[in-house]
Order: sequence, then C-alpha cells, then structure tokens
Amino acid sequence: MSGFVEKPEPVRVPGLTHLHTGKVRDLYRNASGELVMVASDRISAYDWVLPTEIPGKGRVLTQLSLWWFDLLADIVPHHVLRTEVPEGAPADWEGRTLICRSLRMIPVECVARGYLTGSGLAEYERDRTVCGLALPEGLEDGSELPAPIFTPATKAEVGEHDENVSHEEVARRVGADTAARLRQTTLAVYSRAREVARERGIILADTKFEFGFLDSGHPDAGTPAAEDANDLVGGGQDLILADEALTPDSSRFWPADRWEPGRAQPSFDKQFVRDWLTSPASGWDRTGERPPPELPAEVVERTRDKYVEAYERLTGVSWS
Ligand code: ATP
Ligand code: MG
Repeated sequence: MSGFVEKPEPVRVPGLTHLHTGKVRDLYRNASGELVMVASDRISAYDWVLPTEIPGKGRVLTQLSLWWFDLLADIVPHHVLRTEVPEGAPADWEGRTLICRSLRMIPVECVARGYLTGSGLAEYERDRTVCGLALPEGLEDGSELPAPIFTPATKAEVGEHDENVSHEEVARRVGADTAARLRQTTLAVYSRAREVARERGIILADTKFEFGFLDSGHPDAGTPAAEDANDLVGGGQDLILADEALTPDSSRFWPADRWEPGRAQPSFDKQFVRDWLTSPASGWDRTGERPPPELPAEVVERTRDKYVEAYERLTGVSWS
C-alpha cells in the first residue's frame, strides 16, 4: 500500500482550472493557458505522502528550483515565465508558485546517476547493469560510478515505482533524435549541477529531469503526457527543462563529509523522517498496509532545518 493517507482537496481559485494534485504539487491552468504550479509543504517517504507537513518546504524547494533553472540557463532553457501569485489565490502561495509555459511533455523520466544506489543498485546486484548499461565489478551501495550514466524511466501511477527502461526503448517511444538529445542534455545538466553542489559540500548522487517541447497550439499541452508516441517526436525543436529541477524531492543529496560506500548514505533532507518512521517510537510497519502516523514536532523541526540548510549551502544565500 502507498499513496495519500488523505488526498487534499484542491484550493478553488476563480480563473484557474485545477488539473492535478501530485504527491507534492498542485497544478492549475490559468485563463491564458499557462501552467500554474504550486508546491505544497507535503512530504513523502517510503512511497507515502505523510499526514504531517513540513512548514516552509514548498517555498524552499520552489526557490531552490528557480536558482538552478537560472544557473543552468546557458545549457538548457526552462519553462518558468513568472512567479507572481495569481489574483484571487491565497496569499500563502507567495514564494511557492511558478507560472510556466504549458509544454508538450516528453513521457520519459530523465534520470542521471553519478553514484550507485536505489533501483540502480538493485539491478546492478542482479545483473551487473543499470538500465541495461554494463558496469564494472565491485561496486557497492553509494559507490561513485566511473562516469555519470543516463538511466531513463517511464512514469508510474501514484503509489507505483517508476520503471527503468533502456535507451533503445526510449528511442522507440520518442524517436532516436529526441532520445539522443534527452540523454545528452540530461548528462550535461547533471554534470554541471553536480560540480556546483560538490563545491558546496553536497554530493548530488542522482537526479530526475522532465523535458517538454513548446507547442502552444496543442490541445493537450499541460496535461500529463499524451500516450501517442508518434506525436511526441520533437522534429528538431529545442528541449525545454520543465517540472522542478534539482530539489531534494527529485534528487538524492548526500552530505559529502559523511559519504561512505558500502552502506545506505545519510540523506540530506529526509533522514530524520526515515529514521523516525522505521524506529520503534513510530510504531509503524513500513511493509504493512497501514498508513504512516503523524510526525512528532521535533522531527518536523529538524527536517525543516535540513531543507533550509540545503538551500543555504547550495545558493550561499541565507533563508531568513
Ligand atoms: P509525483 O508526485 O510522483 O511527482 P506527479 O508527477 O503526478 O506525481 P507532480 O510532479 O506534482 O505530480 O505533477 C507535475 C506534472 O506536471 C507532471 O505530470 C509533469 O510532467 C507536468 N509538468 C511539469 N512541467 C510542465 C509544463 N511546463 N507543461 C506541462 N506539464 C508539465
Ligand atoms: Mg512529478
């Protein structure tokens, strides 16, 4: 079992059409056809959206994403147009709302990995490959890979794991040209971001990007990706970096000074949450059917501090 303990009701705002409630973000379309992405304070762990929010998380992650979009703009254009709160929307949307170009999304989760862990580790232990790419012997949980690899996945429904797919499968779905450009752009952006993070004491172990094409006239623009693969070949159009970028929700951030291959690495942001949920104190069984319980105030506080610390370390700006 997994997913929401209780799926939140979307906020009704005149002039905005609610499109989707994701695990963490709420999506709307405005009257101009732009996409309005609002990051909530929801947090997920072990495939569950927890019943307790982390105050300020939505703002921290939105500001971090914006900082990365700007920093990476010389490698790839991004989808953010403006950041104002739409008229009639709650004032607390301030700082966590992005008005974006509505793109024709490419239905591939573009994952780059520089280190072995998670689903990559599971495949490696079975086959000595990740997404079909052969890797050397002797790697363990948390090992740095000889070079970053592109390990695409297809998006799963809420509560299901994304499925890793081979580069050939991506090419089959979106065309060889688009597949090659997804790979090249994903690796270029990851490599740059990982250098920046490393200078600031953070290992960017892996990350996931989503890209789209400009297609203002497309009737489905802005809805979760269309099924028809033939329709998705980019025909040489520029890839646009969409969704969120390089936040702890889309990436694994590890404190560099505590990196030690051969065990699960402490995660920068969710470690307190995971530790508490799996401790006897929570009384929760992550393998069972029951949803996770509310987090204690102390865990909330320390987790919030970690998100703020990640933002401050990376950007060099104090959160205030
Ligand atoms: P999860 O909680 O697992 O991430 P989700 O992906 O369904 O679930 P969100 O990430 O909140 O939930 O939803 C964002 C959705 O918006 C995704 O379907 C994403 O592909 C899409 N999206 C992001 N940017 C754009 C854009 N510029 N144009 C159109 N769709 C976009
Ligand atoms: Mg998503």
